[in-house]
Amino acid sequence: MAVEKITVSDFYNIILKYKDVIVSNEKYLTDLDAAIGDADHGINMSRGFTQVAEKLKSLDPQSADIGTILMTVATVVMETVGGASGPLYGTLFLTMGNDAAGAKEVDANKLVKMFEDALKAIMDLGGAKPGDKTMVDTLYPAVEQMKRNLSSNVTDLITLFKDARDAAENGMKSTVPLVARKGRASYLGERSAGHQDPGATSCYMLIDTIYNYLVEKYQKSG
Ligand code: ADP
Ligand code: MG
Repeated sequence: MAVEKITVSDFYNIILKYKDVIVSNEKYLTDLDAAIGDADHGINMSRGFTQVAEKLKSLDPQSADIGTILMTVATVVMETVGGASGPLYGTLFLTMGNDAAGAKEVDANKLVKMFEDALKAIMDLGGAKPGDKTMVDTLYPAVEQMKRNLSSNVTDLITLFKDARDAAENGMKSTVPLVARKGRASYLGERSAGHQDPGATSCYMLIDTIYNYLVEKYQKSG
């Protein structure tokens, strides 16, 4: 079954699911950060998204729109995640929320625009480019893949996110041999090589969560 649109309650559920993924992977993300940073990425994200989930429960997905949900996420993330990743993830959700202001559902065109704008905002804020060993290494190829699919008229969101997830995974893995040029890991210079970037990993988990959510909701076997 093709999925052409996702709704307010989809966004709501995706964020709650992402919180579960982050909480389950708190130690993994923190261990990745221990190798090349200050061992807090999992802790930061887990603390922040636990608060996000609490806050979302006070919103009624029936009366909220996608913009409201994402703006709420952005505000809580900015206030509670901390580190370098807090403002960056805050910017991601803020940009997407702005794009989706007033929308009750979004299609592939709109979603890709939301991701494209969010990537641009993150790159503008943090100054990172692909190859700098950051979350941009995950997000950039995922967005490029989404745009390629859109230009060949692929508007089924399951296909779109499956391909984006695969591109994000390759991007995440591509950070292993890289020498960090942005963020705390860059202080290590050459010694940052040989480790996967924690932010690239949490960012992969976001795209993977969206894909898994769509599959579970719309593509149940049978
Ligand atoms: P901190 O580095 O302040 O301890 P976190 O540990 O929560 O913050 O997050 C680290 C992650 O943030 C890195 O793995 C990297 O992916 C991401 N990051 C750091 N600086 C930048 C930047 N300038 N642009 C994009 N992402 C960045
Ligand atoms: Mg850290």
